[in-house]
Amino acid sequence: MDDPRTSVDAIHVNEQPTAVEAIERLDTREVQPVVVPPLTELLGHVTPAKDSAFAELPARVSSRIGLFLRTEALEAFLQMYDAAEKDGIILTALSATRPFSHQAFIWNRKWKHPQAMGMAPLARARDILKYSSMPGTSRHHWGTDVDIYSLEPSDFDAGEGAKVVAWLRSHAGTFGFVEVYTEDEHRTGYQPEAWHWSYIPLSGPFLQAINDANDKGTLPPLEGFEGAFVADSLHVIRDYVNGINAKLGE
Ligand SMILES: [Zn+2]
Repeated sequence: MDDPRTSVDAIHVNEQPTAVEAIERLDTREVQPVVVPPLTELLGHVTPAKDSAFAELPARVSSRIGLFLRTEALEAFLQMYDAAEKDGIILTALSATRPFSHQAFIWNRKWKHPQAMGMAPLARARDILKYSSMPGTSRHHWGTDVDIYSLEPSDFDAGEGAKVVAWLRSHAGTFGFVEVYTEDEHRTGYQPEAWHWSYIPLSGPFLQAINDANDKGTLPPLEGFEGAFVADSLHVIRDYVNGINAKLGE
């Protein structure tokens, strides 16, 4: 009688819509209009712990304390987490919102790493950009994106990790989450990241706002970290920020 598959959630889950269908479905729902935060926030100048637009992930769904998402994205993540758990899949969140200062710490540490010392600035930046965003350009600044299960690509090739990503690819769209850095040879930018999922009802309009500002020349400059001067020559907005799952641009 208590078979979870008879619940409304399970029925939705089993419909397995594509990401685009899920987005269309979300678009037609009665939802609050999306409020796009100021550009400075989208460039990472946020303090999630002190901002009422964000909420902390409960310990049961995350690998450590202090992970935050925007409240709407967190609500959707928790629904997705519970649905996966019913299917025996555990979607542990490893990373969520990362402010500019945190991203700059990661970037500067890699920039000054002994292995990078012999490299010219452009090559050094390109090497870091395989997996890490330039400060100011990370989707993790937005509070809409979450890293799930493992940050090691090979962990998704077999075993539990393969089950996790297969579940996400079948079901995450129902909850508004979309894989961003897909394995697509035509995609520019970062290496594939099976762990990185984005709450598209918010991150879609946020990306649009960044692109609109960039087109108009009103996007604040990328600065305040090592090697910031190579940002323009690397076309980070065009090739990295927009180097995403082609379905997201449809
Ligand atoms: Zn990520």
